[in-house]
Amino acid sequence: MSKIIAIANQKGGVGKTTTSVNLGACMATLGKRVLLVDIDPQGNTTSGIGINKADVNNCIYDVLINDVHPKDAMFETKIEGLKIIPATIQLAGAEIEMVPTISRELRLKKALSLVKDQFDYILIDCPPSLGLLTINSLTAADSVIIPIQCEYYALEGLSQLLNTVRLVQKHLNTALQIEGVLLTMLDARTNLGIQVIEEVKKYFQQKVYQTIIPRNVRLSEAPSHGEAIITYDPRSKGAEVYLELAKEVIMYEQAAR
Ligand code: ADP
Ligand code: MG
Repeated sequence: MSKIIAIANQKGGVGKTTTSVNLGACMATLGKRVLLVDIDPQGNTTSGIGINKADVNNCIYDVLINDVHPKDAMFETKIEGLKIIPATIQLAGAEIEMVPTISRELRLKKALSLVKDQFDYILIDCPPSLGLLTINSLTAADSVIIPIQCEYYALEGLSQLLNTVRLVQKHLNTALQIEGVLLTMLDARTNLGIQVIEEVKKYFQQKVYQTIIPRNVRLSEAPSHGEAIITYDPRSKGAEVYLELAKEVIMYEQAAR
């Protein structure tokens, strides 16, 4: 059984990319076959896992727009069991170019269905918007992980995201589920974080992961070295918590079956 999980929140800077890279890397470290799909034109997952964009011939843009087979846009990473379909800045034009195309919301779903059975998990790193790229991701996905930054206004904008999820469930993907809500960048030195945790738990209840990602400077350093935290600094708090999260996600999956 393979599972496609979109990592989505239209707010920027909440930890989508950090979670995609590190959850993916930790799942692979635990023996899962994982594919990262970078669908953000900024391509931070791509560079963050060590792919040089200058070396990329086919990226997710070509899969969505030019009908390139996803296996022809797939790259190995330094981590065994972890592959990626990268994004380059070319993707910035894709939303506009997709508008007049047939079944524009289903393009990613169709493409990933060609390779889905080769992986245990496919993680899609969404852009910070609710446009056609995010809609394609939610349509292709079995479930969505929503990272929420532990800060003031944490819940702001979430109703728009949940509304989009409901619209996709209604019209495009009735099976879409909320996989979990992940609290990120907790600053243990402030009381604010604790308040936000309570607020988010009140709202999402048992959907909130027990694993909470604290602020950890090693997590913010790793991408500039093109490495996931698990290889950049396996002894760091960041590596420990993302490994915990990977185990939690895998455990829920097994419990659900
Ligand atoms: P998004 O993809 O939602 O825009 P990112 O994952 O890129 O968010 O995170 C935004 C910034 O915060 C990045 O510079 C990233 O390195 C940093 N960051 C993310 N998570 C953490 C963390 N737990 N501790 C410290 N820095 C973090
Ligand atoms: Mg990002």
